[in-house]
Amino acid sequence: MEAYDAIIIGAGLAGLQCARLLGRRGLRILLVDRKAALDNSIHTTGIFVRRTLEDFDIPEDCLGRPIRHVTLYSPSRRFMELVSDHDEFRIGRMGRLYMHYLSECLQAGVSWAPDTRYIDHRLEKEHLVVQLSRDSKAREVKTRYLLAADGAHSRVARNLRLDINREWIVGVEDVLTGVPLDGPPRLFCFLDPKLAPGYLAWIAHDGEETHIGVGGYPSQFDPVSALDKFQLSLNHIIDLKQATKIERRGGRIPVGGVLRNIANKQGLLMGDAAGAVSPLTAGGLDPCMRLSTLAASVVAEYLEKQDAEVLATYSGKLFRARFTSRLWMRRLASSLRQPVLVELACASLRLPMLDRFAGHVFFGRGSFPDVEMKLSPQMLTP
Ligand SMILES: Cc1cc2nc3c(=O)[nH]c(=O)nc-3n(C[C@H](O)[C@H](O)[C@H](O)COP(=O)(O)OP(=O)(O)OC[C@H]3O[C@@H](n4cnc5c(N)ncnc54)[C@H](O)[C@@H]3O)c2cc1C
Repeated sequence: MEAYDAIIIGAGLAGLQCARLLGRRGLRILLVDRKAALDNSIHTTGIFVRRTLEDFDIPEDCLGRPIRHVTLYSPSRRFMELVSDHDEFRIGRMGRLYMHYLSECLQAGVSWAPDTRYIDHRLEKEHLVVQLSRDSKAREVKTRYLLAADGAHSRVARNLRLDINREWIVGVEDVLTGVPLDGPPRLFCFLDPKLAPGYLAWIAHDGEETHIGVGGYPSQFDPVSALDKFQLSLNHIIDLKQATKIERRGGRIPVGGVLRNIANKQGLLMGDAAGAVSPLTAGGLDPCMRLSTLAASVVAEYLEKQDAEVLATYSGKLFRARFTSRLWMRRLASSLRQPVLVELACASLRLPMLDRFAGHVFFGRGSFPDVEMKLSPQMLTP
């Protein structure tokens, strides 16, 4: 039977980041994804925040133009402008980025199993046997450790008997080209509990790509009809007459905060599988990069020393404290179901002091706690 030091299920951003680091470390890694091609069925808008762009090597040709301007709309479409002195956001060209990271994984010696599903695993003496399936054909592989990067609804997390996400919003968006940009690249955010209960509707426009989407609690709205309605309401804001729709994206976003039990002696969770998403902004890309980088350093050390103490440094309890205020703000956001209350909240954001709070939410650097990532020099060199 084939044998690996670690098997990573899921080749989204979390799985790819961890696989390329562990591969560079010289470990035998198998990266598995049910997708046949990683640039298909992308589910994220892909907005990267400044902190991620500063701390990680996202190639320039995988990013759109920088965005410094945010327009925030109330339910009655009153708006306030927020402008940063810095380039705060860039929309990732996610298909290209996934393919770039995958080629770095392959260069680092990672074995790649596309179009392959994780089914289950069992413990046999000192190792795990992982059951995979491709075209209905079963394949069994041995591993010393199993890493879950299989998204918000993680089967691996459940089978590892680790925590699973229980609270999420859903988002759906269209990606368009051919939309004229009037002014600088911009993020438009719409607070409107009818269109996007508990979250927001958005337009992210960098001059090349335009993403128009809605997100909210699935029990409180129908995302697809809300998106249609939202697009029909935009004619005073953007001109969609010449627009071409190139993709529809969507999926679940966990918003309950990072889970508590995310590692044991058999495996660990990363990215959305670990609930590593800011509960307030629903941004998951920065937490995903940080946690999967930490995971790589912890797994490398654990496999080397076989010391369970090492895993204690990979606990959601250590990160959750940083999320407390954001979790409370999420509770508040989800309780504001009346447009009039949201209108009042938006009006208060225009008051001095509170406008700083709005700037802090959009331009702050607290999407995920800083984690000490003890990477060996090997892991940093492609
Ligand atoms: C509509 C939407 C918009 C978003 N926009 C942003 C944004 O602009 N900025 C931001 O920071 N965050 C955003 N997020 C959140 C962010 O996209 C996620 O937090 C992040 O992509 C999670 O990455 P991941 O690698 O953990 O999981 P995923 O990207 O979900 O990857 C999981 C992978 O696992 C594979 N998989 C699943 N099950 C199996 C199985 N059984 N066997 C094999 N493979 C399997 C899947 O095919 C997939 O490739 C958005 C989310 C949504 C839904």
